[in-house]
Amino acid sequence: MNTLIAIKKLLLNYLNRGTELYDEPEKRHKILIINWFGMVGFSITFILGINAYFENNSSLSIVLLLSCVLFFLSLQNHWLFLKQYRFEASGTLIQLSLLTLMIYLVYSGGANNTGPLWIFLVPPVMMFFGGLKGGLRNTLGFITCYCIIMFYPNDQLLLATYTYEFKTRVLYSLLTLTFLSGYYEYSRHQSFLHLKQLSEKFEQQALRDHLTDIPNRRAMMEQLNYEYARVLRNQHAMSILLVDVDFFKQVNDQYGHSYGDEVLVKLAKLFTGTLRKQDMISRWGGEEFLILLPQTPFNDAYEVAEKIRQTIRNNPIIYENITIPITVSIGIGKADITHSVDSAISQADEHLYYAKEHGRDSVHPKIAS
Ligand code: GH3
Ligand code: MG
Ligand code: MG
Repeated sequence: MNTLIAIKKLLLNYLNRGTELYDEPEKRHKILIINWFGMVGFSITFILGINAYFENNSSLSIVLLLSCVLFFLSLQNHWLFLKQYRFEASGTLIQLSLLTLMIYLVYSGGANNTGPLWIFLVPPVMMFFGGLKGGLRNTLGFITCYCIIMFYPNDQLLLATYTYEFKTRVLYSLLTLTFLSGYYEYSRHQSFLHLKQLSEKFEQQALRDHLTDIPNRRAMMEQLNYEYARVLRNQHAMSILLVDVDFFKQVNDQYGHSYGDEVLVKLAKLFTGTLRKQDMISRWGGEEFLILLPQTPFNDAYEVAEKIRQTIRNNPIIYENITIPITVSIGIGKADITHSVDSAISQADEHLYYAKEHGRDSVHPKIAS
């Protein structure tokens, strides 16, 4: 039982080799299939090669065993030649080995003229390794070789003897399989692209606030940490502004929740329009916004905050012919080598509280310019 588990583990390790080097699922999947294919190709050609040897078909045996070596090398190429895992090179080697072997089987007939049966492997394998375009190109190249060998006058390029019906029927079914494999590869790729787009869209959505369409708290947290790493590296300060709408509850109470929502949307647009290119705004929660000002010392941050406060005050929100003046209170926080992001946020929160307590529609702390 333990031996079985050990063999299973060994096999899985072997098949997964190289996948750990890539994050993209498509590439990992490809490496897994290359490993599988290399192993299956290696085992089958080995068994058939030994079999051909004992049946005294020495040329077939040599070709099969040579292919077996190529399949083996395709599995090993990363440490034998390249010192790193190059799965594209393995894929090319597998395709070349397969195509050469198939042409030989058609030419020689393999064991008792059964060789051409194996060529149906060509379309699906080529599509897998080369995608629709490369796969079609390689398969059609192979079919052309097949036609030349099979239909050359007087069978001069053939060692084996096939009936005309056999040659044509194999060709028709090969063409049918090429069409079906091509279509399958095309739809597989389309659905892969569709899923990729969907996952990118969801990822984007997870970082945006649904109502205002500006970055949400999670996105801002990521950006704050990213910016703070730069602060530590370059030893300059960054500032944050915590902006809270004054008496927002009254807006909701007086005009209704959907009016309140619309005010938040318009405010987000006003903030975005007022900020500099390098700044970032987010909806921190409810009617609170957090603004990140990278590479901005405290006194410059005060100027930005004042500009925002005045812009909001001077642009009353108009919605469904109702005009309502809105004001905001702003607290400033600073992050530098000795003040972390968290401490900057709590500082901004305390300053905002102070601004609220001392009359609202103001920025705290006030810095004389
Ligand atoms: P203050 O000046 O002290 O900040 O007063 P305020 O009324 O703005 O503060 P308070 O914390 O009492 O109320 C905040 C209100 O914001 C209450 C809540 O219903 C409202 N609010 C939070 N999120 C939303 C939202 O997404 N849409 C709407 N319409 N209202 C929201
Ligand atoms: Mg408020
Ligand atoms: Mg609030």
